[in-house]
Amino acid sequence: MKALDLKFRVDDLNPSQKEFAGELPLALLQTCLPGMVGDLGYRPQTAATISGQVYLSAGGEVVVTGEMTVTVDFDCTRCLAPRTVSLTSSHEHVLVKRRREREADAELVVTSDDAEVDTETYQGDEIDLTEVFRQDLVLDLPMNPSCELGGTGDCEFDEDTEKALEKPMDPRWAPLLELKKKMN
Ligand SMILES: [Zn+2]
Repeated sequence: MKALDLKFRVDDLNPSQKEFAGELPLALLQTCLPGMVGDLGYRPQTAATISGQVYLSAGGEVVVTGEMTVTVDFDCTRCLAPRTVSLTSSHEHVLVKRRREREADAELVVTSDDAEVDTETYQGDEIDLTEVFRQDLVLDLPMNPSCELGGTGDCEFDEDTEKALEKPMDPRWAPLLELKKKMN
């Protein structure tokens, strides 16, 4: 059976799990990621790929579990070295049909009962998971990415930077150093 797209009709769902797959296009990532980290930001190179399962619960909730993978370039916020990170994250969402009396309220209502599962609402007969996963992605990426995130371990400081970081020696220690040299 063909997997659903990120956009599907609620009528196409049933109580058994259905596969879905899709991606957040590069053009979309370019509108939401570069501004995240001050002037530095993330530089997406490819679309984010998403796949998972969705089903309609007996109570009419659309239950989504999905995994998203994305690769982005960034500059370390500590040493400015250009880095790349590949992130894979799992997400669970429960989407509840918005009741009629609340339809005038145009805001997307997001309530969280616990940290793991977000309960969101949808309107109409069609669901588009693009925005749901776009928000996940923005939350996944740390505000201060450093070399550690890129998996390369410590920051690389060049020698000049390192010297600049070293505190100049207190001149009162100079005579002691001289003495130490003589003793050796
Ligand atoms: Zn660094």
